[in-house]
Amino acid sequence: MRLHQPRIAVISAGILGSAITYNLAVRGADVLLLDENPRPGCGVTGRAFGWVNVINGAPDHTSYPLWREAVAEYRLLKASLPEALSDARAGSLIWRATPQETEQLADVHRRAGEDVELLKRSVVAEWEPRLRRVPECAVFSRSDLALDPTRLAGTYVAAALAAGASARFDKRVAAIETANGRVTGIRVSDGILKADVIVMAAGSAINVLADEFGIDTDIETSPALLLRYACSMPVVSRILRGPRLEIRQAGDNTLLVAKSYVEDGVENGPQTIGERTLAVMRDELNLPGDVMLASADVGDRPIFADGLPRLGFLPQVDGLYVAAGHPGVILAPLIGRLTAEEIVDGRRTELIPGPK
Ligand SMILES: Cc1cc2nc3c(=O)[nH]c(=O)nc-3n(C[C@H](O)[C@H](O)[C@H](O)COP(=O)(O)OP(=O)(O)OC[C@H]3O[C@@H](n4cnc5c(N)ncnc54)[C@H](O)[C@@H]3O)c2cc1C
Repeated sequence: MRLHQPRIAVISAGILGSAITYNLAVRGADVLLLDENPRPGCGVTGRAFGWVNVINGAPDHTSYPLWREAVAEYRLLKASLPEALSDARAGSLIWRATPQETEQLADVHRRAGEDVELLKRSVVAEWEPRLRRVPECAVFSRSDLALDPTRLAGTYVAAALAAGASARFDKRVAAIETANGRVTGIRVSDGILKADVIVMAAGSAINVLADEFGIDTDIETSPALLLRYACSMPVVSRILRGPRLEIRQAGDNTLLVAKSYVEDGVENGPQTIGERTLAVMRDELNLPGDVMLASADVGDRPIFADGLPRLGFLPQVDGLYVAAGHPGVILAPLIGRLTAEEIVDGRRTELIPGPK
């Protein structure tokens, strides 16, 4: 019999930590969320494009069943926390360099059981009238979502607080305290906060915290660039992904473009890429004259070499749990639930490997 309810501390309020805190709180756990930033979603989550999909996954990759499960979890989220998705837009159009490649993409995903449809040119032109180079055909992935990951993290945290969790922002975790091989608390600038279980969900910063114990978490970082453009009017209705551009439009008309990024001198710095991309956008889309680059931010995506996330207690320190991996926005609702089920109910998932 437990003498007291364990206190669980979650580091920190990115999309994963926020989802985990919510799932713990609604199960009645005693949970404290900590983040060094003033509000949820200030890390990589604040630089994410916000595309929830399986169409970018490869059906023959080991991560594919997990992606499918993660996207399905969004339906449960919609039922249990409807405000989390109140701004989400559904559907995306994807096309490749040739019609044959686009048809192949549709075939592969249709055979895998996905809800995709091959649209012909006239339909694409009607749906997205501002496209200047309308492809011969495009894959319509009906159940994809476009959402604001920062807003989602904030909704999770607000719901967690309403369910009894507590949170401390502007609190940098300096170290994890242990005694006799198990966690006892978290060291912050003004003292030590007691904890029986600590969930490290701090993205690539987990490496710093784990390094203290000589643990190599194998988390690598993969930089990507999020470009935001101010725009005065609606331009695109869905996520569009062609060979030259991945773009969507937010509710306030901001245009968002995601790109992979390699640090490669000033001429390939974020701002310059942002300006160059605007020229591509004008070439691909009939844009109003006032579209301007508003920000160009690089985010370090936490990834593992095998493309799968990691979830579970570290064998080296009792009570120390790790939750990390990419693509975090897609995975967050599922990782949130699975983490809470393992910590509160002792139910371990077979979907995601544990840390070594
Ligand atoms: C350009 C771009 C586009 C992307 N597009 C998508 C997409 O469309 N779909 C998708 O699923 N994923 C996408 N991603 C990936 C996604 O953003 C990440 O997988 C996800 O945000 C990681 O979330 P996280 O909670 O693990 O980490 P983070 O959001 O980085 O959260 C970590 C938190 O830890 C806090 N922290 C760090 N150290 C400490 C400390 N010592 N003490 C206290 N707090 C600390 C930080 O303040 C931060 O809030 C994209 C990423 C980029 C860069």
